[in-house]
Amino acid sequence: MSIEKNLQEVQEKIRQAAERAGRDVSEITLIGVTKTHPVEPMREMIDLGIMDLGENKAQEVRDKYPELDREANWHFIGNLQKNKVKYVIDKVGMIHSVESGSLAKEISKRAIKLEKVMPVLVEVNISGEESKHGLKPEDVNDFLTEIEALEGIRVRGLMTMAPNYDDNEKTRSVFKGLKTLFDELNGMGRELDVLSMGMSNDYTIAIEEGATHVRVGNAILGKRDYTK
Ligand SMILES: *Cc1c(COP(=O)(O)O)cnc(C)c1O
Repeated sequence: MSIEKNLQEVQEKIRQAAERAGRDVSEITLIGVTKTHPVEPMREMIDLGIMDLGENKAQEVRDKYPELDREANWHFIGNLQKNKVKYVIDKVGMIHSVESGSLAKEISKRAIKLEKVMPVLVEVNISGEESKHGLKPEDVNDFLTEIEALEGIRVRGLMTMAPNYDDNEKTRSVFKGLKTLFDELNGMGRELDVLSMGMSNDYTIAIEEGATHVRVGNAILGKRDYTK
C-alpha cells in the first residue's frame, strides 16, 4: 500500500466526478482523515500536497499537534464534547460538527479569549438514522439564527454523514438533501460556502451533488487499526 498511489487515485476520481458534474475541481477540498494514524503518514500526506487533515478525537489532536513538524490545516470532524473544546480551539482551523447551542457557546467563549474567530459547520442528520449525529433539517434555520449572534464563531456551512447504504441512490438522496437545505438557507440571505460531505465510500457521489469538502481516510491511508 502506497499513500502516494492511493492519493493519486482519489484525486483522479475527484477530478472525474467534478467533470461529470460540470464543476471546477478547484472548488473541492480534499481533507485527508488521519484519525488513529501516527504523525508519520500525516507528514507524508502533507509532503504530497494534502494540507487539510481531519481528526475526530480532541485528545488525539492535542497529542499529535505538537509532534507534527509541518504546517497544516486541521479540521475537527468528530463529535466534540464541550469540556474538550479547550484541547482543539487553538489548533484547528474549522470545526465541522456543531450540533448544539451549548457547544457553539463554549467554542465562542474560548475563541473570544484567544481573540480569534472559529469557522464552524452545523452537522445535519439528513438520513434520520438514530446512530447519526446532527440536527433535523427543519431545525437548522432557527439554530443558525441562534448561533450566528455569537461572537467568536462564524458559521461557514453544513456537514453530514451518509449511512453506509448498499444502494448508491439512497446515499445520493442524503447528499441531495443537504445541498437542497444549503441552497434554501442561502436563498434566505445567508452566506454559507462550505458543504462538507462524502467519505471513502461515497465521496464521488458527494462531489456530483455539490460537496465543497470531502473527508477521506481509508481510501488514502488504508484500513484503520482501532486496536492500537
Ligand atoms: C472517519 C471519518 C471520515 C473518514 O472515513 P473513511 O471511511 O476512512 O474515509 C469522514 N468523516 C468523519 C466524520 C469521520 O469520522
